[in-house]
Amino acid sequence: MEQNPPPPFPSPEELKAKITEFMKSNFGDRVSVATFTQPEPAESGVEEKPEKVDHEEFVFNFLPRDIKAHLDRFVIKQDEAKKVLSIAVCDHYNHANYLRRLEKEDPGRAEETEYAKQNVILVGPTGVGKTYLIKHIADLIKVPFVKADATKFSETGYVGGDVEDLVRELVQKANGDVNLAQFGIIYIDEIDKIASAGNLIGRDVSGRGVQTTLLKLMEETEVPVRSMNDLQAQLQAAFEFQRRGKAKRETINTRHILFVVSGAFEKLKEQVARRVRQGQIGFSAAPVQVMDNELFQHVTTQDFVEYGFEPEFIGRLPVRVVCLDLDAEDLFKIMKYSEGSLLRQYERAFRAYGIEISFDDEALRLMAEAAAEEKTGARGLLTVFEKLFRDYKYYLAGSGLSQLRVTAELVREPKRVLDRLMAESHEHTGKALEVSAHQFADRFKKEYGLEVMFDDSALRRLVDRAQTERMTMAELCAHLFKDYQFGLSLIQKNSGQKKFVLNAEAVDAPDKFLSDLVVRSYYPVAPAQKA
Ligand code: ADP
Repeated sequence: MEQNPPPPFPSPEELKAKITEFMKSNFGDRVSVATFTQPEPAESGVEEKPEKVDHEEFVFNFLPRDIKAHLDRFVIKQDEAKKVLSIAVCDHYNHANYLRRLEKEDPGRAEETEYAKQNVILVGPTGVGKTYLIKHIADLIKVPFVKADATKFSETGYVGGDVEDLVRELVQKANGDVNLAQFGIIYIDEIDKIASAGNLIGRDVSGRGVQTTLLKLMEETEVPVRSMNDLQAQLQAAFEFQRRGKAKRETINTRHILFVVSGAFEKLKEQVARRVRQGQIGFSAAPVQVMDNELFQHVTTQDFVEYGFEPEFIGRLPVRVVCLDLDAEDLFKIMKYSEGSLLRQYERAFRAYGIEISFDDEALRLMAEAAAEEKTGARGLLTVFEKLFRDYKYYLAGSGLSQLRVTAELVREPKRVLDRLMAESHEHTGKALEVSAHQFADRFKKEYGLEVMFDDSALRRLVDRAQTERMTMAELCAHLFKDYQFGLSLIQKNSGQKKFVLNAEAVDAPDKFLSDLVVRSYYPVAPAQKA
């Protein structure tokens, strides 16, 4: 049988055009295909190494107390966690420095050096600063930081990608700097949800399988920079292959990536308290409310194993620390003293509407108490603020109010205080609008020698309309009385009248009011009506 020769391999441009067409027909205009930048062709004969983009080398030069001092600026409480993390981070990156030096001097010895990586397990309820701590550490030491939720994982990957994507995300966060990504921090929350003891997460996924997958990353593995599932990355590799006969293979080594896992470990405190009570006569038999530093000292690897973790998995997380619950006093301090305080955000939001907001301590205390009731740590503050200030933002923006003092009364009775402020501001702007109505009349007199006066009913209607129609008084009057100069001059000619009083009817139907006046000036049936 005669075989047709295979179709020629399309050029990159043809391929791109074809893919664009395919994407458009399937997904519409929302999807576009990026243009690939082709690297310069390599000089022939030169053996290419798997090139790593040459960025500046990562340097680490901090002391634990530097890191703790930085964290103190943002994170309230959690002193033990700050200390333990600062030490773990310094140990981790100092060791990385050491190994790099050794690799240059004596690669053999570097290979043999044993080291237990200082991966961290953070225990603590939601919203108490676990992520916040790690994020600020990453910011300070300038390494990329990626956060994921363990509940998203399955044995084969995680929803939307595979576990290795976490490592690739570090490269993205490092703007493509693979070298820096290799010193990044991966933070996995809700790790307690993948404890395997009788737990099934999401679909029929066993926590144990996920633990094994993560374990591989936490140890040392090479992750390809280009995901097998990433169409664009694979195409780029294909182009390179076509151009040079081989594709550049770039991988990320996870040896120096610091892993931090965290979870609430709700049942852990009971589990440990029970054991401690059994061993220690005299230990309070009252139910334990929170895991504190004292109780946490009794937590052993075995406890985590009983919780449902593989000993190997827990074994890779030697640094264990607890983040404490936050009470109302802590939440008050967070607002008052943390550099990341929500108050700054609200000050900016109100300033954008021309309003300077300020907070009384008494008000902050009330808000802290309300937030503590939410039982979501500092996240409770977000809820309380959002609820309290939603209407304030809506109604005060554009109201002319320029100062907002948040008092205890405001927090207790937000609606009443808002109504009062609105009424005051209404009255205030109402007065200002009346003044500008009189100014309009003054200008009219100066320009046309005709005196118009607004009576009280007219002023009330004008102020009302200017406010509801969101116009300035000058705009409104110019619009309503645009023909008055002409009409009133005519009347003046007919009857000699120079002074005109405008009432509510003139505001509601200015043209009719004027034409009635004009008609009457021709037929002065009732001369008594003249002003
Ligand atoms: P989690 O413990 O669940 O990881 P986060 O660290 O994400 O909670 O906290 C949510 C937000 O609450 C943070 O972005 C931060 O603004 C604030 N926050 C939480 N804990 C503290 C704290 N101890 N000090 C200051 N701010 C905090």
